[in-house]
Amino acid sequence: MTLVDRLGAHGLIWANGWSSEEAELTLRGAAEAGLHHVEVPLFDPWSLDADHTRGLLGQLGLAATGSLALGPDTDVSSTDRSVVDAGRRQLMKALEAAHAIGSAYLCGVYYSALCRYPGPPSTAGRANSVAVVGEAAQRARELGMTLVLEVVNRYETNLLNTAEDALRFIDDTGQDNIAVHLDTYHMNMHEKNMSRPVRACRDRLGYVHIRESTSGYLGSGTVDFAEFFAALEDIGFDGLATFEAFTYSRCSAEIRDLLCVWADTWSDPDHLVRHARDFVAVNT
Ligand code: MN
Repeated sequence: MTLVDRLGAHGLIWANGWSSEEAELTLRGAAEAGLHHVEVPLFDPWSLDADHTRGLLGQLGLAATGSLALGPDTDVSSTDRSVVDAGRRQLMKALEAAHAIGSAYLCGVYYSALCRYPGPPSTAGRANSVAVVGEAAQRARELGMTLVLEVVNRYETNLLNTAEDALRFIDDTGQDNIAVHLDTYHMNMHEKNMSRPVRACRDRLGYVHIRESTSGYLGSGTVDFAEFFAALEDIGFDGLATFEAFTYSRCSAEIRDLLCVWADTWSDPDHLVRHARDFVAVNT
């Protein structure tokens, strides 16, 4: 199975949430673009209508993955016990929600908050995160799931900025069902090149985000996708790839400000996603 047959897109490309109407719009768009799956944002896992999403996925022949980003009030890398506990509840609920829509993974940033930190992580805060993520991995194992930890840039977390950070963190949890989730947009800011981190992870690379440095059309920025795709091929990567893109005029204020999306780089999600699929097909 080539990479394009395992290509999906992030749910926030079509809409800013996952109400029934937004789920329907998103899943229909993804099916029309010929994608394998949609990554469903589970930021509010309590509000998910899993039966509705599952029904649509079945009808449209799509798979789903689930993703979560924690906030400052639910930061499992905090040293405040009540904040860590709130994060643990959110993470465990998101895991159940991802399972309920048939996802084999939970991806995203749930080892810390997704925010700009004023300093490096504390030893105690990192230990709290290792403990909670390790606990979530044990629950994931009972559900037959794998946790994939997204490595993001230093303005969005202070904990996992490189593949090496993630590998060390996973080792510290002592769990074997946690893998690395690399994103080309973040790699482009932190890694020495686009192949070394892929090779460093090897069979511990579980999931990838395909995102251009502009957050727009693939090929419109500085990411060396040729090198990245060749490295995936070299290690025999058989996980899922998910296209991600954000543009100012289509983002809610909340998502725009969280991810610092100030530029308008695209307007038509269907055109953008079809272009992404073609780009992956011709470059892999
Ligand atoms: Mn990403």
